Amino acid sequence: GDVQFKADIKEALVEELQAQRDQAGIETTRARVEFIERKSGVLNLRVAGGDDIKALRVIVAIGRSGNFRKLGVPGESLDKVYNRLHDPMEFAGKSALVVGGGDSAIECAVALAGAGAQVTLSYRRAELSRAKPENIEQLNNMVADPNTWEGVEEPTSERITTSFTSAMRDGESDGSVQLALATQVAEIRDDAVDLIDESKNVRTIANDVVFSMIGREPPLEFFRRSGIPIRGEWPVSRIVAFSSFMLFCIFLYHWKKELTELPIGTWFRERGWFPANVGGWWDAVGGWVADASRRPTHLFYTLRTSMASAGFYYSLAYCLCVFFFGLRRIRRRKTPYVKLQTWTLIAVQIIPLFLLPEIILPWAGRNGWFADGSAGVAFADQFFERYDDVGIERAYWRAYGFILAWPLFVANVFTDKPMWGWLVIGFLQTFVLIPLIIRRWGKGAYCGWICSCGALAETMGDAHRHKMPHGPKWNRVNMVGQVVLLFVFLLLVLRIVGWAAPGSFANSLYANVYKKIPYLNYTWIVDVMLAGVIGVGCYFWFSGRVWCRFACPLAALMHIYTRFTRFRIFADKKKCISCNVCTSVCHQGIDIMNFANKGLGMRDPECVRCSACVQSCPTGVLTFGRLDASNNPIHDRIAASPVQMQEGRTMVSLPVLGNGASPI
Ligand code: SF4
Ligand code: SF4
Ligand code: SF4
Repeated sequence: GDVQFKADIKEALVEELQAQRDQAGIETTRARVEFIERKSGVLNLRVAGGDDIKALRVIVAIGRSGNFRKLGVPGESLDKVYNRLHDPMEFAGKSALVVGGGDSAIECAVALAGAGAQVTLSYRRAELSRAKPENIEQLNNMVADPNTWEGVEEPTSERITTSFTSAMRDGESDGSVQLALATQVAEIRDDAVDLIDESKNVRTIANDVVFSMIGREPPLEFFRRSGIPIRGEWPVSRIVAFSSFMLFCIFLYHWKKELTELPIGTWFRERGWFPANVGGWWDAVGGWVADASRRPTHLFYTLRTSMASAGFYYSLAYCLCVFFFGLRRIRRRKTPYVKLQTWTLIAVQIIPLFLLPEIILPWAGRNGWFADGSAGVAFADQFFERYDDVGIERAYWRAYGFILAWPLFVANVFTDKPMWGWLVIGFLQTFVLIPLIIRRWGKGAYCGWICSCGALAETMGDAHRHKMPHGPKWNRVNMVGQVVLLFVFLLLVLRIVGWAAPGSFANSLYANVYKKIPYLNYTWIVDVMLAGVIGVGCYFWFSGRVWCRFACPLAALMHIYTRFTRFRIFADKKKCISCNVCTSVCHQGIDIMNFANKGLGMRDPECVRCSACVQSCPTGVLTFGRLDASNNPIHDRIAASPVQMQEGRTMVSLPVLGNGASPI
């Protein structure tokens, strides 16, 4: 970019940036902004004790510099509780408790122990994973042997205000560190603290001083005053908006299909409401247009017929969203990877997933391409069953199956009689082609480049990707997809038995479970409610990948295939500044920073190759790639990050792992 800096210490960096600011003629004003409001299309910054400032865009760069986060336990206000460490030597010989699992907590514990304190580190999780690997390594070494202490030469945390090295203490120290993982502070007293573990067992330890290093509260009040929505907060307006959109999705998906559960589509058809009345619009136009729309071989007839079905408008709206939001994505994320990926998604969505089933095949059929005696009849009979005696009107909608594989799209396999064309295609897609592409490029080759759900999530969902919830609790919900997969495999077994024995119990059980039992059938639960209503209904509040991450049965099957994938996101550990941007933009809920700052290759099965983490990383740490036969990293040639583009390279250097860890 235009701003370049070389300095590696704060003071020099500030000077460098100030010089560039002066050179660019940018004027700075010191003022305290109370809040921002939009007035007549312009942003108005309300300044304390001064004139308002107007702007078209405002960048809020106040960081997380709010108040220190509270433990919320009795005794927290005692004088012995600190949020910063200034001089570790003050605490030599004391019993210290450090609370937290990040770099500040670990550096604090290491410095205190080095100065001669007996330190207990309490962290609510069972594993230390957020801090820099070097810090974790030094801490673990000290737990095993306090004499391995190396000091804290350059604290990464601003809460450790001075470095502390062996030169600063007198000879050996008798400090030590103990870990109390998966514990939380229950109470702080003058001479002791109570720690409580996950089984609610309370342990009391002697204590002279407590360092609470659990981060800061972001300055949320500023955003609240400015009316900016805050993730995780649900004011009434948000609840109303979310509920209204959910209700709209319930309407939409029951209008699109004629279902017994809520027969909105049937009501509309029986009353001649939209789109059943579209034929009348063609007639109202009159003239040759109306005449052509009544001649079966004319393109207008096909348009008129397709436009009488709700599915046509759903697919059309889907294409338009993928196209226009796709253009926006290309403008927002200016990398060759995003450009190629987005145009591929647009092309797949418009041609085989809209034009082919809605226009091209029906028009070709009405022009005799698949009628009895034609060259195409043998092909068509394998894929599109007849709706008439001569093979002109057929189930051309089944063409979705050329792209959407079983068990995402089950209709071509769960048929009354086996359709051998689809069975062969479905088998090849699901059990041959998809495993092969996953082996080479990862699950994202399908989910990020081909599938229509992925197309909408990467385009319309692009601006909402940061709304996907993260964390272990949400990761447990990923199992829903495995349950749906089991459900669909059981249905497949019943279906096959039913074909072999049409009068059997298995056949009637299949029919009931697949479609007939109201509210308890697969079609309604999975296709309508999970994939449709919940998947799309959550888009603007929980990101566009809710269905993909939590419930898609094809994804659950692909997770098995990903055990054998060679795909990786490689990380150049030495460039990682642990800023968490990569994790926050991942709409599959992957904690990518946890791999990146350790220099490990990321192969999480949830990854859909969207490239948001690679593209958003400010220092160009991440690179798509794969392992070759000898397990050597091979990086993708196409640049997926602006940093790689600026550096004029398509390949990035191999990760250098200082701790000898495997990049695999
Ligand atoms: S997770 Fe399922 S629905 Fe989502 S993109 Fe992948 S295959 Fe498609
Ligand atoms: S890990 Fe990166 S590429 Fe994979 S899904 Fe998450 S953000 Fe997208
Ligand atoms: S965005 Fe880049 S620098 Fe920040 S944590 Fe992720 S990999 Fe590291």
